[in-house]
Formats: sequence, C-alpha cells, structure tokens
Amino acid sequence: MKETLSAAAAPLLQWFEQNKRPLPWRADTLPYHVWISEIMLQQTRIEAVMGYYARFMAALPDVEALSAVDDEKLLKLWEGLGYYSRARNLKKAAQMIMTDFGGSFPTQYAELIKLPGVGEYTAGAIASICFNERVPAVDGNVLRVTARLCADRSNVLLPETKKKVTAALREVMPPQAGAFNEGLMELGETVCLPSEPLCEHCPLQPLCQAHAQGLTAELPVRIKKMKRRQTELTVFLLVSEQGNIAVEKRSDTGLLSGMYQLPNVEGYYSENELNDLLTAWELMPQHIEFLKDVKHVFTHIDWLMKGYRATVAEESRRFVWVSPAQLKSSYPLPTAFQKVLEGNL
Ligand code: SF4
Repeated sequence: MKETLSAAAAPLLQWFEQNKRPLPWRADTLPYHVWISEIMLQQTRIEAVMGYYARFMAALPDVEALSAVDDEKLLKLWEGLGYYSRARNLKKAAQMIMTDFGGSFPTQYAELIKLPGVGEYTAGAIASICFNERVPAVDGNVLRVTARLCADRSNVLLPETKKKVTAALREVMPPQAGAFNEGLMELGETVCLPSEPLCEHCPLQPLCQAHAQGLTAELPVRIKKMKRRQTELTVFLLVSEQGNIAVEKRSDTGLLSGMYQLPNVEGYYSENELNDLLTAWELMPQHIEFLKDVKHVFTHIDWLMKGYRATVAEESRRFVWVSPAQLKSSYPLPTAFQKVLEGNL
C-alpha cells in the first residue's frame, strides 16, 4: 500500500494544482474558514453548503463573533443543515479558542483535536491545509480512492481499516501535506466517484490496481455490521405420564428447517396464559415448573428462551411423543433446544 500511495503523490499534486475547484473557503487558508466549511460538509453536499457558508460568514465572520452569538441566531443560520449539535459544538469550540487559546486559532493537530466537534478528520484537514502539518485527513472519499488505488479489500467501514490507511498515508505524506490531502479528497469527489469512477480522467490511472484488475465496481468493500435481532421464546419440555417427550418438526424452509424442536411460542407468557396455551394444545398439565433461562446465538439472531417443564396426563395428537432414547438416536434436535433439555430429563 505504501509504495503505491507514495508513487501517487507527485501526479496527484500536479493534478490538484491544475484542477482544484475554486471553492469559497479555498480563497485563503484561514483556519476559521476551513473549519466552518469542513463542519458544514460533514453531512451535506458541497452545492448545498455554498449558500449556508456565505450567510454564516456574513453574520459571524470570525471566532470572536461565533463565540458570542446567541443560540437562536446560530441555530437560525444552521436551519436546514440538520445535525444541530454541530452548530452548538462550533460555538463551544469558539468559546474555548477565546478562553484557552487567547483568541488565536490552534495551529497543531494535537490542539485542534481537543476542540468540541473536531474529530481526527477535521483536525487533520485544518492542520494540513492551514498549517501544512504532515498529518492525514481520512474521510470516506479518501478511503474509496486508497482502496481502489491499492486494490485493498479491507472493509472501509471498520475503524481498523481507517487506522491502517491513516498510518500508511502518514508515512508517505509529502511536504505539501495540505495539497496532498485535499487532492485525495477532490479526486474522490470529482473523479473516483462511488458508482462510476471516471478512470479515463484520473491522473492515478497508470498506478491504479483496481483499474488494472477490473475491480473498480467491487471496491471499496463496505460491509455493514448486521444488527442482531433478539427473539423471546417460551419453550416447553412436555413430559407425558409414560415418560415420553413432545417434539414437532420445524417448517421445511427458514432457520433450522426440517429439524425437530421442542414446542415453543414467540414471546413470554404469564402463568394464566401458559395454562390457556396448554389447554389449546389439548394437554392437561399436572405440574409446571420453571427451567433456567437459556440464550442461543445464531449468526444474526439471538433466541432468549424461557423454559417450562410440564408433566401432562395425555399425549395429544398435536405433537410427536418420543422417548428420551428415541429422541437422542433418531430426531435431529438443534443445539438451542438441547440446551433447554440439559439436566432436565
Ligand atoms: S483509476 Fe479509476 S478507480 Fe483508480 S483511482 Fe482513478 S478513478 Fe479511482
């Protein structure tokens, strides 16, 4: 990765010099301007930010004005941009600059990162663009460009991938740190586009491994962590007077398809509801006792099972009644239910 990124620096810098868009906050490299624009751009597209940025600067031209603005006016200026905590953090950070830094904008990454609402990316962007400190500024655009350039299949949604890319960029960072970082971002925003990269216009095409290997559509890899679903189940160990256990076959499709299971229902039941349910299953419970709670973890789902052992007078036709030995030898019972049986037969 390092070799490719290092080789990319010169053509990228040259391309950026000739192709950078004339954005208002690029007219100078005042940290106040870069900071406000970077915070606005965090969740909003450049075209939408332009108008907000101009209004904001007209109303609050410097850190001092921002630190003293009343909240209503600030939120009005931010109205429509959303994520209002960003605006509140701007004011807090401005107040911190006035009190802790004597009104002068911090000039180093290590100080910038202490400001409310300023994370690694924003601190890196301000430090490199305004003060040419050799620190990376890695956002989604940069991750996309580097993943393609190096044909790196790491999941860009993982913090460790960002760490790895940041470390590699730090090592190859040229003296023109600001232009290098901005060049990578600009390339991601205007050429190395998410769905259809314009490789024929890309200054890095001769170096690009994704382009060479035909992998541009597959990279970057973005795998979202699946949210785990939790299902509460009430599970029954029904034992007849003959000592047989009730089981039933699961559906032929879906989770654990075709296997056998202990009778169960979704949700937790009160004592009365349990009795009603057993009656509906044509069972006459003689004795019901709680079993210990059991949790079973599948890939994307957790079963949280409350178990009951019920002795019943008759073997209703609703279920298959098998002896413990038959169950063990002939009926495939998933581990989740085995756990309920454990120590209760
Ligand atoms: S060649 Fe294509 S895929 Fe590679 S960095 Fe350039 S635009 Fe992106």
